[in-house]
Amino acid sequence: MDAADISADLEHVLRTADQIDARVAELAALIDADYAGRRPVLVGVLNGAMIVMSDLCRAMHCHVEVDWMAVSSYGSGTRSSGVVRILKDLTVDVAGRDVLIVEDIIDTGLTLSYLVHNIATRGAASVRVATMFRKPEALNAPVEADYVGFDLPDEFVVGYGLDYAGRYRNLRDLATLAPHVYR
Ligand code: 5GP
Ligand code: MG
Ligand code: MG
Repeated sequence: MDAADISADLEHVLRTADQIDARVAELAALIDADYAGRRPVLVGVLNGAMIVMSDLCRAMHCHVEVDWMAVSSYGSGTRSSGVVRILKDLTVDVAGRDVLIVEDIIDTGLTLSYLVHNIATRGAASVRVATMFRKPEALNAPVEADYVGFDLPDEFVVGYGLDYAGRYRNLRDLATLAPHVYR
């Protein structure tokens, strides 16, 4: 392992790739059952949801369409600003459609409540939320996730799509960063 290896920057692995894979399969089975006979539009929130979207949609057996939104929330820091700006809008017209928002993680839920409201306003038949990770603060949020992979402690995490200053999204595990990374 050389100094450029990602693992040198990690403190604790909170969920391994294998644990995450197994949980994705369970969520996919639940979602398949709930959407049987329908064709939901899975809306991934870029960039963080790129990994969970690709794993989740392939673990599902029902027909789906996949679309993406990009919104600004965190920038390169570690706290939510509460300001949500659409950087990339949907391509699919979701009027009359069953929409499942796919998120990497919910912390304050500010991003999510904005998105749920925004998509409902376009006349979606239903709007639900799947998130791979959820932090304790999310329990105070104005909106609840319908499918949750793992509840986490209140720590800043990276990997499985989640970044710090643009990096670590490609880490297969979910981990906290070593203090030297922040200095
Ligand atoms: P919220 O609006 O729920 O506070 O935060 C939503 C977004 O903030 C998430 O989709 C994610 O991009 C980012 N975020 C929240 N907590 C974490 C974290 O622990 N690690 C990383 N890398 N991003 C986070
Ligand atoms: Mg996200
Ligand atoms: Mg980020």
